[in-house]
Amino acid sequence: MLAFVLYLTYSARKSHSGYNLLIGKMDVFSTIADIRRQRWAEPLVTWGFVPTMGFLHEGHLSLVRRARQENDRVGVSIFVNPTQFNDPNDLAIYPRDMDRDLSLLKEEGVDLVWTPRQDIVYPSDYETFIEVEKVTQRLEGAARPGFFRGVTTVVAKLFNVFQPQRTYFGQKDAQQAIVIKRMVQDLNFDIEVIVCPTVREADGLAMSSRNANLPPAARQEATCLYHALLAAKNLFEKNERDAEKLRATMVEVIESTDMARLDYVSVAHLDTLEELTVIEDRALLSLAVFFDTVRLIDNMGVGP
Ligand code: AMP
Repeated sequence: MLAFVLYLTYSARKSHSGYNLLIGKMDVFSTIADIRRQRWAEPLVTWGFVPTMGFLHEGHLSLVRRARQENDRVGVSIFVNPTQFNDPNDLAIYPRDMDRDLSLLKEEGVDLVWTPRQDIVYPSDYETFIEVEKVTQRLEGAARPGFFRGVTTVVAKLFNVFQPQRTYFGQKDAQQAIVIKRMVQDLNFDIEVIVCPTVREADGLAMSSRNANLPPAARQEATCLYHALLAAKNLFEKNERDAEKLRATMVEVIESTDMARLDYVSVAHLDTLEELTVIEDRALLSLAVFFDTVRLIDNMGVGP
């Protein structure tokens, strides 16, 4: 009997086919109808929601834990969203491990997980997209055309499916958090957006699913993003307010490595993300760096 139950659990986890895949008390569904039914089964409880693209690490889990603390129920989505990838190869090599992700989420006491197939999110006749116009023009938006259009579209859909009271995003993707807050305000989503601190490896590298694709030599050098940010922050703390000097310091640190190829460095206004000439009080330091085909981003705030 026990073997039969284990087999059922195992085959259910393998299939992700749209049935209620009961793993302990965590429900895993692929269809929208199943998520909605579970979401509204207890209409008065509060829901915290964490959208992810899977291959989970401590950064994701920090959002889940915060959601767990602040809500009666926690929902998570795992969906590698094709519309936010402008490079098909980048999408193809994006790391995935659904079984591991589900067991990590179960350990965190998550209640509900949506693991939709692509055709559930984007049926063949799909034609509606959401665009935040201004703050998306800079940094990641400038470097990756169409990226934020894909992000805001899928996040709006996820919000409509889960209808949470609160949602949790990482400061690791600082511009994404700003863009999502803008969309929530502009489209009157009745959802509180909570931004959680960046979780780092012991050597300072910001955790990212993409780190798994770094070859070992590049993994060691990848701490240069963190060191570049620290060097610029250090200058700021010595009262340097010339933004260009901070940018130059970041460029210098990145260029002193063998394998890193700089995409951009930025010292920008914390809300508008406009590049600064002089830092009045606060700023967002950010950068994007390639190691071969793997593109990493990181950021740090300076000032009060
Ligand atoms: P992703 O799966 O990369 O789309 O990320 C899902 C969520 O986790 C986003 O809100 C990210 O900002 C957040 N996140 C990713 N990495 C980290 C990290 N190192 N620390 C905190 N949050 C993170």
